[in-house]
Amino acid sequence: MSESSKIRKFVSDQLSVWPMAAANFRSLKNAETRKLTVGGLEVTLQHNPERIRSSAAKVDSASIKARSCFLCESNRPEEQRVLKFEGRKGRKYDICINPFPIFPNHLTIIRDRHVDQSIWHRLTDMADLAHHYTDFTVFYNGPRCGASAPDHMHFQACPRGIMPLETEVDRLIDRIATADSVPNGEEAGTVPESISKDIEYITSVQEAQLFHYKHFTRGAFVLRARTSKSLAKLFYRLLDCAPIPEGEKEPMFNLLMWYKSRKGGVRPAGNTHGISGFEYRAIVLFRGSHRSHHYFDEGPDHLTMSPGCADMAGLFIVPKKEDYDKLDVRLLTEMMQEVSVSEEVEKEILWRLTRTQRKLEVGIMSAPEIVFEIVSDGAGPQKVSYMEGKISYNGALYDELYFEARTISTMFAEPSFILHDVTIGVDFHWQRKQTQCFAGALKFIVEGGKVVAVNIIGVEDYLLSVISSEMKSTSDLNLLKAHAVISRSWVTSMIGRRKINRRSEGLKLEELNNVPSLVTHLESREENRDSGDMVKWFDHEDHKRFDVCADDHCQRYQGLTVAVGENVRKAIDATWGQVLTYDGKICDARFHKCCGGRTELFSTCWEDKDLPYLQSLPDTPGHEEGADPFCNTADAAVLSQVLNDYDLETKDFFSWKAEYSRAEISELISRRSGRMIGELKELNPLETGPSGRIKKLEVVGTAGSFVVGKELMVRKILSESHLKSSAFSIVWTKDDRLVLEGRGWGHGVGLCQIGAAVMASRGYGYDEILQHYYPGTSLERL
Ligand SMILES: [Zn+2]
Ligand SMILES: [Zn+2]
Ligand SMILES: [Zn+2]
Repeated sequence: MSESSKIRKFVSDQLSVWPMAAANFRSLKNAETRKLTVGGLEVTLQHNPERIRSSAAKVDSASIKARSCFLCESNRPEEQRVLKFEGRKGRKYDICINPFPIFPNHLTIIRDRHVDQSIWHRLTDMADLAHHYTDFTVFYNGPRCGASAPDHMHFQACPRGIMPLETEVDRLIDRIATADSVPNGEEAGTVPESISKDIEYITSVQEAQLFHYKHFTRGAFVLRARTSKSLAKLFYRLLDCAPIPEGEKEPMFNLLMWYKSRKGGVRPAGNTHGISGFEYRAIVLFRGSHRSHHYFDEGPDHLTMSPGCADMAGLFIVPKKEDYDKLDVRLLTEMMQEVSVSEEVEKEILWRLTRTQRKLEVGIMSAPEIVFEIVSDGAGPQKVSYMEGKISYNGALYDELYFEARTISTMFAEPSFILHDVTIGVDFHWQRKQTQCFAGALKFIVEGGKVVAVNIIGVEDYLLSVISSEMKSTSDLNLLKAHAVISRSWVTSMIGRRKINRRSEGLKLEELNNVPSLVTHLESREENRDSGDMVKWFDHEDHKRFDVCADDHCQRYQGLTVAVGENVRKAIDATWGQVLTYDGKICDARFHKCCGGRTELFSTCWEDKDLPYLQSLPDTPGHEEGADPFCNTADAAVLSQVLNDYDLETKDFFSWKAEYSRAEISELISRRSGRMIGELKELNPLETGPSGRIKKLEVVGTAGSFVVGKELMVRKILSESHLKSSAFSIVWTKDDRLVLEGRGWGHGVGLCQIGAAVMASRGYGYDEILQHYYPGTSLERL
């Protein structure tokens, strides 16, 4: 007996012992129906008085809590029988008949325990059901989209080909399947010209394709897939692109799914998993609301209808006779407009599904030997090693090795490879080794007598990782958005900036071996080397064989090893592709912890050029002189967003003090500068930037004097690590102690992080924050 005939026997056995249900199934046969054409689809109206309890059901959470769950086994009618079905990972379901049917053989497939209605992790169970019962279409109503029991997980099923939209989509996909140039349908879906007004190809994942159905209801998406795995991948990606209403766990949608031969063939006996010619088909119908205004209208337009999957697929269930009689194209069109997603949301979903991102090459690690795993190939750990200027892998030598990414990411990518023993925190006290997981493609190259692992990843996926490790995910969304734009501007400007140093290709191997490591240290540039002064600044030195490295030299990047913050995800999604530009060029968007009341000029800290958007301005509302600066705050909620270890870090950043005895400071300066000065006599600021940051400082000692600059060098020689800033006044006390009274933290150029966090907390938008710190710039989408 086939699985489907087993079901039919189960239903008839059940009805023979349950008179009430049998009567309902009988009366369904005589239910009145009529047809109408709505939005280009011929739909069916079914007058079904027994459905009143479902259409008028109270599904608010208070009402749900107050009633006992009618799907739980203990509350089911005595007559109800069960056919068992086992889903994935031990999830069990009870297949039952629906005693108030809208279809012949109408089934409810109930999870054996009381857990919320949710599609997360359960799509493959649904696919298995469709695969098992090929005569049936399985469907799912989201918790606020027609599910009468949003608190108890269940699917439903009905015989194939009853719902008008299902039949229409099946016809269209059959046309596409026939037109496919390859037998397995793995090529991007070719939509024949004659049906291109009805359905449009959107994207694909492995062996699954996604289409947009253009009539009847907005937000209608069609999936076809050869395997349940690729179906699930594409489905969840689609879901990721739709908005989730406040307080809900998933977007609002209805879903129907079936499994069929691509060319109407007959299913062969036995196990057909992966049999060529069969595929899963599904329709996702995104919703804007559960009920239209007609439900609440007390006038002539009232309709007691709560659209679920059947209605959304063109089979309108109408419990009341007066509604059934008055329903016309206008009322149905109005209702569909209101319960489906808005045009704006539909556009947004389509954009998210198809948007692109620039590719970035990130140098992850460099070693004589690297152990890695490709997630999809199941081969487990493998090894590459350096040998005679090449990469040794699987017994052969290569100049370069490339492992393609599994999927193109238009939302946020999934894991594709693992690297073992990645050293993190190079040269820091917490340096250690870690196994890390990455999305995107993996490339091995040779540099400096070692193998280098390079991750080729989309800029947005990269940002998701770096911002998640840098910022608290509880941070204000506008602060995170501002940061996303700054980081994206920086990283975009790094792409392709690397000079592929032709000269180094001519170097001998021994010389290459002297290239220190993956982390190229900050390049120091010196002014007037012969003068005896020590005026230096440090800037980012470009990498030669990739765009950025994964360590603090560029931005710390640990791939998917970091926990992704939900707000970070939102911030990147909302600012996707946006960079800061000035005069059509990407800005050098520097930032620091706290300006101390006024931002600083570029030339105070780095080379002698100033940029029009990096001005020295009061960090106050409207840059008003004398007003209270944004960054002058002690608000713990705000500070903890910016200071990663808020509890451990010092909070005196707006104004601070450093104090030394004359002996202490004399020894410190000699040691930190490497110049013997004897006993310090005087510190004389020679040049100061507009924020008060000292640019050049004269150090006068009994045994020697010199001039030190710029901003960072001043901070270096006056502290064991770094002085908070070079904006300080110099006070000698009566007991011969040196007190530095300072303001701010960091170089003071560009965005002041603490000020920005305060601005966000006061309701400024990210565009306003960016305009405040980078005046005259524009936000542009690449
Ligand atoms: Zn229950
Ligand atoms: Zn770097
Ligand atoms: Zn500030």
